[in-house]
Amino acid sequence: MDTRVRFAPSPTGYVHIGSLRTALYDFLYAKGKQGKYILRIEDTDRSRFVEGALENLIKSLEWAGVKHDEGVFLENGKIVQKGNYGPYIQSERLNLYKEYINKLLDKGLAYRCFCSKERLDKVREEQKKRGETPMYDKHCRGLSQEEIQKKLDEGKDYVIRLKIPEDEDVKFKDLIRGDIAINSKEIDDQVLIKSDGFPTYHFAVVVDDHLMKISHVIRGEEWLTSTPKQVILYNYFGWEVPEFVHLPTVLNKDKKKLSKRQGDVSVSDFKDKGYLPEALVNYLALVGWSPKGNNEIFSMEELINEFSFENVSKTGGVFDVEKLNWVNSQYIKNYDDEKLYKLIKPFVVKEELLNEEEYLNKKDWLIKIIDLVKEKISYLEEIDSHIQMFMGKEVNADDEVKEVLSNDGVRDLIHAFIKNLEAIEEVDEEFTKNIFKKLQKETGAKGKNLYMPLRGAVTGQLHGPDMGKTFIILGKENIIDRLNYTLKNYTK
Ligand code: GLU
Repeated sequence: MDTRVRFAPSPTGYVHIGSLRTALYDFLYAKGKQGKYILRIEDTDRSRFVEGALENLIKSLEWAGVKHDEGVFLENGKIVQKGNYGPYIQSERLNLYKEYINKLLDKGLAYRCFCSKERLDKVREEQKKRGETPMYDKHCRGLSQEEIQKKLDEGKDYVIRLKIPEDEDVKFKDLIRGDIAINSKEIDDQVLIKSDGFPTYHFAVVVDDHLMKISHVIRGEEWLTSTPKQVILYNYFGWEVPEFVHLPTVLNKDKKKLSKRQGDVSVSDFKDKGYLPEALVNYLALVGWSPKGNNEIFSMEELINEFSFENVSKTGGVFDVEKLNWVNSQYIKNYDDEKLYKLIKPFVVKEELLNEEEYLNKKDWLIKIIDLVKEKISYLEEIDSHIQMFMGKEVNADDEVKEVLSNDGVRDLIHAFIKNLEAIEEVDEEFTKNIFKKLQKETGAKGKNLYMPLRGAVTGQLHGPDMGKTFIILGKENIIDRLNYTLKNYTK
């Protein structure tokens, strides 16, 4: 059987980082088996419809480089569908669900339920009071054909429920969790078709996975408890049950489900801060999966080759922003300067550090800064403060820096530095190679007492990228101006 794996999100307006990880594992597994990876849209919950959510979803997946072979695509701003098993949007498949629910009704494996919400609430309350797990009490399961017809004639609303077997072990295999069995007594008579005629997730997912010839259902572990109902449906239809894989939830550091409340969780949050798609995907692959060796930096190609469910944990994977920052910084550090120049533009122009025109005109200068600071940044947004540091002739020092600059001897050190600068044409490598030793000799300041005030006097910071290179980019005049500014404002 060909490997066919689908990612089946409900577009909710944003793509959670955990969904991207599911999509990624779907993709990696399919590609590792030379199979097909399919994007299907599960939009049968009309109350959750969000304008533009589908476009945003596809864009986020595309940005991340998790590219599907079949399903729903965005082309020139329009939604299009490609593949032999469409439509791939559930709201366009309603006729199919109707056809298949009728099969179950005909066989007596599903039934109409006319219970009102009030009645269901009451039953649930009573069950809770008795300490029982709330479940449908199967009230309409025994309705006669005549009773049903009468209610239909009266125009009563109804849902269609699955007739769960009375007492049977429902068994299936999960590639991460092994064999799973649950007694059908514990399974509710699940609603398959809602009163608005739309299928529920449980019904649509089974019909679609079967008709789309899905071989592996790989999804988040929150769906594990739904699987027995779905297995019953496969059995009722006499369809082959796919392989199931339930992935560990993406957790925060407190081992709770990563949620919006704790900050960034959507793919666009990370994109907007300047995380590189390769890095985000690389890191996400590691949330729940452990590669065999010690290497943690993988290209997509390498992930496809290395990834397997054998090394995916059963328990949740912790999403650690610090680790993501580290992975991202590894990518930034090794990125080509020209490429970074293009990528940082939205951050620099957005912050209004430079306007569009300046951004183009100052390309050489920006590339020098990028080359110097790229090993210091975790995500691209951080480049702003570095670029800012190279702009203007004033020195903005915080209290910590002010304290260093007010130490004895700093004035003499700065004067000596200015004298040396005035004696040269321009600040070049030769100058920066010797200047620190020379100043040490001339003033007696050394180590921290030499480097900290010098950096602070010129940049307003105590730490930063290579000082010699920083000075070369700033240039003689600018450094002298800044030193005079510091003398006037911060020294004693
Ligand atoms: N529509 C479900 C979701 O939003 C899909 C679950 C599944 O993959 O079966 O995650």
